[in-house]
Amino acid sequence: MPEAGADSLLVYGCTAMIAHLSMSLGQTLFHRYLGHTRLGGRFFKNHIQFHHVHYAGNHVVSTHYLDNGDNNTLFFLMPVALVVGLSYLFLRLDLLVVQLAVMSLSFCGHYYLDNQYHVAGSWLGRLSWFRRKQQLHFIHHRHGNRNFAVIDFFWDRLLGTYRSVKPGRGFVIPIAAPRPRPSQAAFWPWNAGLPPWQTEPSKSVWQQGLSRRASCGLAAR
Ligand SMILES: [Zn+2]
Ligand SMILES: [Zn+2]
Repeated sequence: MPEAGADSLLVYGCTAMIAHLSMSLGQTLFHRYLGHTRLGGRFFKNHIQFHHVHYAGNHVVSTHYLDNGDNNTLFFLMPVALVVGLSYLFLRLDLLVVQLAVMSLSFCGHYYLDNQYHVAGSWLGRLSWFRRKQQLHFIHHRHGNRNFAVIDFFWDRLLGTYRSVKPGRGFVIPIAAPRPRPSQAAFWPWNAGLPPWQTEPSKSVWQQGLSRRASCGLAAR
């Protein structure tokens, strides 16, 4: 029956949209309340002492994405598993499958975009929506209490933490050194076992004046 088919599509579409929006809201709240407060424990430590140290101010991209090898996925997947578990009690099996599939895709999308924002010359840079979201994310690296979202920045508008990209102002983004800056390396408590070049003061690529620079045009330009 065509009406029944259209109704099913509508229900699937609504389920998918709610699943993605709950993921993006969850990411925004997690980032704000766990990534940026001591409440987050190890997640807070990883985020503030690594991600925000590596990428700060104008130093927001690198030739490849830099992380400390610590997997934060589990922190985010635990509440997701809770939501899916609770949904099992209320949702039909087919809707549960849609919800699970969209949440998985949404999770991968958040993770992938978050990484690509910091990769110099990302293949996504040709897309204006990507450049706009990237610049909004870079604002978060300059103003840590703004723009906690990764994909849906309207959550920041609703939460009062949104900061827009100023029209007409471009960014020149220096490419980060592919390894920690010595002063920062010494700051990380888990660096005790690192080789000397990572903990002793030496002339890094960063200190040599950032010979390589990448210009990134603003969507708003
Ligand atoms: Zn952050
Ligand atoms: Zn970032």
